[in-house]
Amino acid sequence: MGKNKYYCKIDGVVHNLSDVQEVLDGKSERNIILIMYEEHGMDIVSANTFESVLRFHNNEIPSDYNEALRRWQEYNQASLSRCPRCGSTNIKYNLEFASWMAAQGQEPVSDSVLKDNKCGNCGFKW
Ligand SMILES: [Zn+2]
Repeated sequence: MGKNKYYCKIDGVVHNLSDVQEVLDGKSERNIILIMYEEHGMDIVSANTFESVLRFHNNEIPSDYNEALRRWQEYNQASLSRCPRCGSTNIKYNLEFASWMAAQGQEPVSDSVLKDNKCGNCGFKW
């Protein structure tokens, strides 16, 4: 590979993601979410999203992350009735947890913790 395909522009800043590329090439066993969190200054929620965008982008590092992120978000909007991880249409809404919180007299927690949907196939929540 002659071209440095692991340079990725995120919010206007170019990052050298050679460590992520090594994982994609099977040369490293590291966790991509943790790499983005520990080495590239992303918060853990953004790092999770980054990995999803990468998978959506055929496991290739996009040269413009924000552009790839936008396309991923558009795709998700168009496929809300499918699990974003396994594609299953067996979706269960996470009402049990919400009603349990209410029964405990708890304040509703932030959206990032209280997910609305749960996949009935793989258990993924989003
Ligand atoms: Zn699923």
